[in-house]
Amino acid sequence: HSSIQYRHGVIEYDPAVHTYSFERQIVQDINRAIETKELFMVYQPKVQTGTGEVTGVEALLRWQHRVHGLISPGVFIPVLEENGKIFEVTDWVIETVFRQVSHWLDEGVEFKRVSINIPGPYVTSSRLLSVLHEGLRKYGIDSRLIELEITETSVIHDIENAITAVGRFREMGLSVALDDFGTGLSSLSYLRKIPISTIKIDKSFVDGVPLSEKDSALLRAITTLCSSLKLRVVIEGVETQEQIDFITGMIERPHIQGYYFSPPLQEGEFVEWLKEREL
Ligand code: C2E
Ligand code: CA
Ligand code: CA
Ligand code: CA
Repeated sequence: HSSIQYRHGVIEYDPAVHTYSFERQIVQDINRAIETKELFMVYQPKVQTGTGEVTGVEALLRWQHRVHGLISPGVFIPVLEENGKIFEVTDWVIETVFRQVSHWLDEGVEFKRVSINIPGPYVTSSRLLSVLHEGLRKYGIDSRLIELEITETSVIHDIENAITAVGRFREMGLSVALDDFGTGLSSLSYLRKIPISTIKIDKSFVDGVPLSEKDSALLRAITTLCSSLKLRVVIEGVETQEQIDFITGMIERPHIQGYYFSPPLQEGEFVEWLKEREL
């Protein structure tokens, strides 16, 4: 199959060559995937350097397909967004993460905040509000423990409704992070109007740092802008000591999410990882 690209045994997407038949198969298989537990969540910590505090964890979706093996969410989420199945899958994600959170609370696992990715078309729907309300109530979860990650692209796609939706989430006590910041080629004026709590600077700004002078200057500029807005700034995709050194030389106590601290982990591994840090 020329449409399917493997990297480290994981299927990755090439938008230029993906085929109709592969998409159709994904759409067909997704219902079964929920029932047969082919879908599962992994968890990637966010760490504040300086204090070393684990300030959050992002829940990320995985699909262990019975024929294709592990498929990256970068492959199947865009397909599910196109055909509307993403709504059901997101409900499943929310339910699964809330159940996990309530389990961690029962077990005394300490974490500050868990982030859930909300796809663009779902952000402004009223169904999402009721799913969140009901889920929080059902599992007895304090809304301050939950953060929603919404992409900059989806916000600028429908700015007025996004501002309203984010306002409602904040009224519920939820945090809201603006994901993939800097990739939306947008004017920045909406930042004054949207009541987000966190900005996540996209990995693409980190990749060339510190070797590329231009990339380093751009990361510095974008980080300085974001931190002057008095928002939590999370820098994504940090992999190396050199990148950490550059970033800590640039702002105080940044929040970092990246392989430098940990890749996304299965639930059990994540709890182990937390325990080991406490020692
Ligand atoms: P994202 O929301 O920007 O998530 C961060 C991605 O960067 C994750 O990829 C994570 O594994 C990866 N990452 C984090 N640190 C590093 C690093 O240091 N190096 C490298 N190379 N990668 C790093 P992942 O899990 O493959 O997810 C890809 C995208 O799929 C996510 O990007 C998000 O847009 C989407 N996605 C994942 N889970 C969900 C979900 O539950 N719902 C929705 N709607 N989208 C999801
Ligand atoms: Ca995210
Ligand atoms: Ca991101
Ligand atoms: Ca991303």
